Amino acid sequence: MKMAERRKKMAERRRNRAKQKSPMPFHVMIVPTLGCPSHCSYCWSSEEGSPIMSIETIEEVVKWIKIFRNEQVTFTFHGGEPLLAGADFYRRALPLLSKGLSHLNPSFAIQTNLWKLDDELAQILAEYNIPIGSSIDGPEELNDLQRGRGYFKKTMRGYEIARAHGLAVRFICTFTSYSVKFKEEIFNFFMENGLTLKLHPALPSLRSEGPDKWALDPEEYGELLIYLLDKYLENLGKIEVMNIDHLCRCVFTRRGSVCTFVDCMDSVFAVGPDGSIYPCYRFVGMPEYVMGNVYDHPTREDLARSFAWKLMHQYKDYVDQECGGCPYIDFCRGGCPYNALAPAGGEIKGVDPHCTAYKMIFKEITDRLSKELLESSGSGTCSTCMTSFQPGLAKESKPGIMALMFKNS
Ligand code: SF4
Ligand code: SF4
Repeated sequence: MKMAERRKKMAERRRNRAKQKSPMPFHVMIVPTLGCPSHCSYCWSSEEGSPIMSIETIEEVVKWIKIFRNEQVTFTFHGGEPLLAGADFYRRALPLLSKGLSHLNPSFAIQTNLWKLDDELAQILAEYNIPIGSSIDGPEELNDLQRGRGYFKKTMRGYEIARAHGLAVRFICTFTSYSVKFKEEIFNFFMENGLTLKLHPALPSLRSEGPDKWALDPEEYGELLIYLLDKYLENLGKIEVMNIDHLCRCVFTRRGSVCTFVDCMDSVFAVGPDGSIYPCYRFVGMPEYVMGNVYDHPTREDLARSFAWKLMHQYKDYVDQECGGCPYIDFCRGGCPYNALAPAGGEIKGVDPHCTAYKMIFKEITDRLSKELLESSGSGTCSTCMTSFQPGLAKESKPGIMALMFKNS
C-alpha cells in the first residue's frame, strides 16, 4: 500500500476512534450581550454598547434546540458580562429553557465577573442551582493591575453574595506574560483563601491588533503546568487545581475531558445577542463566523453549509494529518481550534500554538506515571490500563501521579 493511502487509512481509523471516544456533551453557550463593565487589559470578548438578548430569542433557542438535537444539553451563560441582561431576563429565560426542553434534562452554568450580582439575581440562580465561574488573577494588587482598579473588591463583593445564597463559585485565573512571574504568590493566594484554581493562559485574539502583548509563551505555559503539578502534589488535599485534574484524567482514560482536548465542533455551539449561531463563544460578534440564526431553526445540515462549520471541520481533518504521529493525539486532538486560527488571521496554518505546552505536560504526566507503576509492587490493578501496582508505595514517599489518579477515580 502506498504511503499516502496508508496515511489516509490511518486518518480514517483515527477519525472513527475519535467519534467513539470523545462524545463531548452537547453544550450551548448563550451570550446575552458582548458588553462588560470591566476593562481587563487582555480581554477580547467585550464590546461597548452591545445589545442585550431579548426573551424572544430565548424562545427561539428552545424551538431551535427541539429540532436540532435530542440529547442532554448544558447551557452556559457567557459574555461579555451575562449578568448585564438583568434579573428579569433570567427570571424568564431559565424556566423557558428548563421547562421547554425538560425532555433534554438541561443543566446550567454561568461565567460572570459577579459585579452585578445582587440578592435578587443570586436567588434566581440558586433556584436552578447554577454553578458560577468567575475570574480573579491572584492577590488584589496583581489582579487589579491586569483587570483594572477596583475589580478585585467588586468581584469579591459578588462572591460573598453568591456564597450567602449557597451558590458554588470557581475562579479562573488568567496567567499572562507578566503575572507568570508571580506564580508562587498566585498559587498561595488561591490555596490560602480556599479557592479552586483553574488557570487560563492569556491568548492572542482574532479581534485584537496587538494579539501577543499579554499572551503567555507556550513554553512558559508548559513550565507553569509542570510547576503547578508539583505544587499540587506537595499540597494535596489543601487545594484543587482543575487543569491538572483534567490533564491527568486525559492521560489515564486516553480521552479528552474538556473542550480543548476533544473535537468540539460537533458538540459546542454559541448563540449571540441577536440569535446568531457560532461554533463557540469565542467567535461571537464576528459576522464571518455566523453559521445560522436560531430564528430560522436550522438543522445540522443547514449549519454544515456555512463557512464556519466547514472551517472547523477542516481543522479536524488537518489535526488528523498534522498530529498523526503524536503520541497524545487521542486525548489532545490538536487543542483549541480558536487558538489555532487566531494567530493566523482565521486561516488554518498550524495547530493550537499551545501544542508545546501540551506535549510538555502530557509527557511529564506519562513519564511519571510509568515510573511510579514500575517502582510499585503489584498488589492491585489499574482499572484503566490493567497494570498492577500498590498505591502509595512508590520509592518516593511524596504523593505521585497515582495519588491524583485515585483522587479522580
Ligand atoms: S473553540 Fe476552543 S474554547 Fe471553543 S469550544 Fe472549541 S476548544 Fe473550547
Ligand atoms: S500535543 Fe501537539 S502535536 Fe500532539 S495532538 Fe496536541 S497539538 Fe497535536
